[in-house]
Amino acid sequence: MKKILEKQKEFFASGQTKPIAYRVRMLRTLREAILAFEEDILDALHKDLKRSRLDAYTTEVGQCLAEITFVLKRLKKWMKPRRVGAPRVLPLSRAWIVSEPLGISLILSPWNYPFTLAILPLVASLAAGNCVILKPSEISRETERVIAEMMAKHFDDRSVSVVCGGPDTTQKLLEHRFDHIFYTGGETVGKIVMKAAAQHTTPVTLELGGKSPCVVDENCNLERAARRITWGKFLNAGQICVAPDYLLLHKNLKEEMVGEVARWITKFYGERPCDSADYGRIINKSHFDRLTGLLQDGNVILGGQTNREDLYISPTVIDSVSDDADLMNEEIFGPILPILEFGDVSEAIDLINRRPKPLALYVFSRDKGFQQEVISKTSSGGVCINDTLVHLAVSNLPFGGVGNSGFGRYHGKAGFDTFSNPKSVLRQTMLFDIPKRFPPADELGFKILRYLLK
Ligand code: NAD
Repeated sequence: MKKILEKQKEFFASGQTKPIAYRVRMLRTLREAILAFEEDILDALHKDLKRSRLDAYTTEVGQCLAEITFVLKRLKKWMKPRRVGAPRVLPLSRAWIVSEPLGISLILSPWNYPFTLAILPLVASLAAGNCVILKPSEISRETERVIAEMMAKHFDDRSVSVVCGGPDTTQKLLEHRFDHIFYTGGETVGKIVMKAAAQHTTPVTLELGGKSPCVVDENCNLERAARRITWGKFLNAGQICVAPDYLLLHKNLKEEMVGEVARWITKFYGERPCDSADYGRIINKSHFDRLTGLLQDGNVILGGQTNREDLYISPTVIDSVSDDADLMNEEIFGPILPILEFGDVSEAIDLINRRPKPLALYVFSRDKGFQQEVISKTSSGGVCINDTLVHLAVSNLPFGGVGNSGFGRYHGKAGFDTFSNPKSVLRQTMLFDIPKRFPPADELGFKILRYLLK
């Protein structure tokens, strides 16, 4: 680790990563690497999480390629120094902001979207002109292996180096000084990362999770809402940081909604989701055991079938969950959907605000007043109205959490900014000085400054 870091530091200090030509070359190399390894990536995702090709392509390979294209198209503009106005107390001066790379960044990524969540921050960091040490999750080990092979084959380790290993490896990495640490994962490890970063006053981005509510108003297209919620909840067997965690349903909709969700589960995955090529598996036995434990927290009204050997939990809907049950107090991160009911919008808002601020919030309603009330009276990393998950596909929307769901943003320009130092520059005129600027002070000087600083 020490050797790689020294090599990267020396390379960065040479200034070679700063020009746009280098950054564009890195992003194009990354695109070529992904295209060359496309089949291996899809295979690895199938082995790790039994992800279907459609899902794996759309949310991993395709999303990364689309982000690279988006960034390549705009990088020149983002890198341009941005002129800003100066106050009249500094006449004829010029002020501007120039984005400079931070240096060496450390990216730590999780197992649930093991490719995208390693590559998207990498795109941002390379675009900003940094060198990168990337540590993918050891839990999704096939994808970890493919990422390591792909990067070693296409990148000089002075630009990007992949370090493989578990928590011990991460702890060792964290002993070193980086210029930015970008962590995606759970809150407990997030705190470990932040503590370690504090020793070197290294800035961090924490992309954490949480319980993302999904509010369904009485005034909505229920069939379409149910289809989109069923998709967003059970994709990747619910192991998505922005998956709708629980449903907050208007009390008149319960029966119809449960019927619709059941219908869409069958349409998507057949009568036996365990046999469907489109339905994923739980990542490992410890997560399986945690999730099956949560099944005891309420009354299973749909699904509930499990198979530990196959790491299978069927799409499940639960009601009669008490507020203090684990199911309502920890992020579910699996294919279990609790249903809670509300009478009016303020009750729904109150239920949301009783919990820590979530990463995403979903609102299904035809009524703009209802939508606006929920948005303005709650706080979350992002909001998606009348759909689930798809706000992540908009590179112009900064992605990240608030409060317990993390801090810092990426995707598109927000990612470029996260990995850049917005250096402020002022060029002062040498033609004159404002009269009476320098000591000794007198009444006239005081008056002039008073006027200029108004
Ligand atoms: P994980 O176990 O893969 O851990 C993430 C990273 O932390 C890995 O690189 C791992 O090696 C490292 N790590 C694990 N334990 C460690 C320790 N004790 N010390 C140092 N490093 C350690 O992933 P996870 O935490 O199970 O991920 C799931 C969580 O991530 C969920 O809460 C989910 O909501 C969140 N998540 C958030 C986003 C987002 O974009 N905000 C995306 C995906 C997942």
